[in-house]
Amino acid sequence: MARRKRSFAVIGLGRFGSKIARELVAYGNHVIGVDVDERLVGAIADDITEAVIADARDEGALHEAGLASYDAAILAIGSDLEASILCHMNLKSIGISDITIKAFDSQHRRIMEALGADDIVIPEEDAGEHIAQRLHNPLIEDFMEICEGSYVALVEPQKAYLRKTLQDLNVDGNLEVECLGIMRHSLFINPTSHQEELLVPGDRLLVQGSRSAIRNFADAR
Ligand code: ADP
Repeated sequence: MARRKRSFAVIGLGRFGSKIARELVAYGNHVIGVDVDERLVGAIADDITEAVIADARDEGALHEAGLASYDAAILAIGSDLEASILCHMNLKSIGISDITIKAFDSQHRRIMEALGADDIVIPEEDAGEHIAQRLHNPLIEDFMEICEGSYVALVEPQKAYLRKTLQDLNVDGNLEVECLGIMRHSLFINPTSHQEELLVPGDRLLVQGSRSAIRNFADAR
């Protein structure tokens, strides 16, 4: 089933905000971009649904831009703490509860958490974590934390795992990760209904487990 298109307000059109705004439009969503800098607003105006010059510290200006009718907001004013706090208050006050905040460091994150924000990203930290993981073990293509301490990762099987079934790998029941799927080209193979499926070169496994369990699985020789 196709995902319902949503409307997003992106506040702050620096590198992070403008990238998010363009990507959301590419997925077919309705996106308004807001920035105090008219050059940045002009530069993105043709690429997104609407682009507005406004100061996000001013609740009236956000109202006037029509933000109250948007489903969600991305607050991408990274480096100005005061503007970030005021904009967060304004967005809540005009009725947007689904807000993702870009913080510039852990101090900023703590302050926004204390103000009730629950979706906070520090892009440099997230990117650093992913790049370090890829450098440490290129077999782990991507991973994400799905809840505290539990990760889902896309792992290229070791050579030693090829021509084996998942049951073979778990022969002593000591496989610490759970395999949620085998990705083969554009096919998703359900391991429960394909227990006898042999792993072949090019397969990738979608596994779930703790970070160390996934690392052990990918590192095992
Ligand atoms: P990046 O690292 O993504 O480029 P920045 O923190 O440098 O992030 O960019 C933040 C953007 O937010 C800038 O384009 C800046 O003009 C904009 N901005 C800062 N303060 C306000 C404000 N009060 N209202 C609207 N936009 C703002």
